[in-house]
Amino acid sequence: MSFIPFSRPSIGKEEISEVVDSLESGWLTTGPKVERLEQMFCTRLDLQDCLAVNSGTAAWHLLAKCLDLGKGDEVIVPAITWVSMVNVIELLGATPVFADVDIDTAMLLPEEVERLQTDRTKAILPVHFAGAAANLDSYKSVMNEGVLLVEDAAHALGGEYRGVEIGSCSDAAIFSFHPTKNVTTGEGGLLVCKDPQILQRARNLSLNGVGKSSWERLEQGQSEVDVLEPGYKYNMLDIQAALGLHQLPKLDGFIEKRTELAEYYDFLLKDIDEIRPIGRVSYEHKHAWHIYVVKINFDILDISRAQFVFELKKQHIGVGLHFKSVHQFSYYKNKYPHANNTLTNSTELGESVISLPLFPAISKQDQEYVVTCLKKIVGSNLKRKWL
Ligand SMILES: *Cc1c(COP(=O)(O)O)cnc(C)c1O
Repeated sequence: MSFIPFSRPSIGKEEISEVVDSLESGWLTTGPKVERLEQMFCTRLDLQDCLAVNSGTAAWHLLAKCLDLGKGDEVIVPAITWVSMVNVIELLGATPVFADVDIDTAMLLPEEVERLQTDRTKAILPVHFAGAAANLDSYKSVMNEGVLLVEDAAHALGGEYRGVEIGSCSDAAIFSFHPTKNVTTGEGGLLVCKDPQILQRARNLSLNGVGKSSWERLEQGQSEVDVLEPGYKYNMLDIQAALGLHQLPKLDGFIEKRTELAEYYDFLLKDIDEIRPIGRVSYEHKHAWHIYVVKINFDILDISRAQFVFELKKQHIGVGLHFKSVHQFSYYKNKYPHANNTLTNSTELGESVISLPLFPAISKQDQEYVVTCLKKIVGSNLKRKWL
């Protein structure tokens, strides 16, 4: 039987022809297609401007740099997040402050923001985990003045919070177009920010600090440049944007399909107590269904998560881990040894979640097979006293 991957992008003929068009045009790097993609996002998210870059991490790095984040500054992050977001804080010399998450949604707890906030807090970085909307109002109501709310919307493109599209709900947001995400450009990311000056500075920094792309310098005669501050090389290629131009219009269709598949998993798993889906919220929102995460009750099983994942692999099933709690990675454990004391939920989730295969083209039969295998592995590894 063929392998069921954790995720697989849905790439159609349109994407392929557009990439070929770029390759044949002689223009591969940042140019007119990136500009068109940015405009498409502005229209969709009702923005004046946005910045396409080569990863979601790069989008956050640029934003953090524009906030002049550095030594002495703190950023509150949920411990359950993708490590690259925390790495950026660390690399800039600032301090990541790990906050615990809700055990049922894996999302940043507002009471943790309240507890951990100091006058050094510059930003808080909640994740719209799995594609459900984080409760932004609950953070806004406890945040000190001057602190920036930055949405890690890597999972939530196309989702909504209280009737507003994710990405238009707060000061700033980042998206990712990694191949597993709801829309892909191969690798890629987007920075959204209400402050046009920040966005302008970020654009400048994304092109080594020279501010103009090769397209503008070589093809549009804007050859003179100046450098006000050194930047990075984070620009998105036209080859990448070519994919995005045909992925974004399919987003709503992808989410519809993902929602249907998630509901089918709900149905298949409803009687299995040892496997609990997480990431549901009850306030008004639209779930973007990036991933389908379940928490497995390893307390009653005689098998580790690593073994569990390996058993699934033997059955030709790939799964994801979203996420191991960042405070438990060696570097962070050594540097912030006390974080562990208060991160009870994050620690528990980080050790017991797996993300099931979910992508628009997965078949219902494959979903049924996945759940059958889950049941078998659980059934054959129950600890003695539970038999
Ligand atoms: C994917 C992801 C990112 C950033 O991804 P890139 O690979 O840098 O595009 C950030 N945060 C979360 C929660 C993610 O899942």
